[in-house]
Amino acid sequence: MHHHDLLLVQSLDTEVEQLMHKHRSLSERDQLARAQAELQRFTVQLDEKQLTHRELSSRQKRYEDEAQIVAARIKRNEERLYSGEVKGVRDLQALQEEIWALRTRQSDFEDEALVAMEELETLGSELQKFRSEADLFEARIQKLASAIAAVEAEIDARLETIRMKRAEVCASLDTALLTEYDHLRPLFGPATVVRFDAGKCVGCPSMMPAMEVDRLKRSSDSVSSCDECGRIVLL
Ligand SMILES: [Zn+2]
Repeated sequence: MHHHDLLLVQSLDTEVEQLMHKHRSLSERDQLARAQAELQRFTVQLDEKQLTHRELSSRQKRYEDEAQIVAARIKRNEERLYSGEVKGVRDLQALQEEIWALRTRQSDFEDEALVAMEELETLGSELQKFRSEADLFEARIQKLASAIAAVEAEIDARLETIRMKRAEVCASLDTALLTEYDHLRPLFGPATVVRFDAGKCVGCPSMMPAMEVDRLKRSSDSVSSCDECGRIVLL
């Protein structure tokens, strides 16, 4: 039995933990979440502005239509005025007054249409600015997402290599020892298995008592456990 291979298993497991931690705590992931939230905020505002844009457009169209209808009525009245079919002075005067009133209405409608058009222009340039900012966020999101995917793929590939290597090493290890290691690993982490180093268990908070050192030194096996802390000690 190559009990010292257990140290290799331990270092592979430690690397797995480090890789998993790296996978979880990629800084790009936070940046991505922030960019997505920002884009979401932009999209909501963009939708609102687009709605206002549509409302303004239809308002402008409505005023222009009204102005045209009034213009047509003015034209018909003017034709009547000059046709000679209206003869009485009062009737002519009344027709003339109606034409003046209609001209005022026409000009009011045209003014309103113009106001709507000016608002549309302002809103149009705002919309353009919003769209280009949203495009920037989208580009940033794309970039971050592919950066994350690249690191994840790298980590996954390494994890797969480690998984195979571990299985290979474990095949030649004592099953009971492995079970003990797996059981202790959550407790002692990367220092579950330690070397018997100049009379001390390197994992122990205190030096090993002399009696324990003697006991381990006299041990016929190449593996034992520290009576002080319970770590696996390789002799
Ligand atoms: Zn110990």
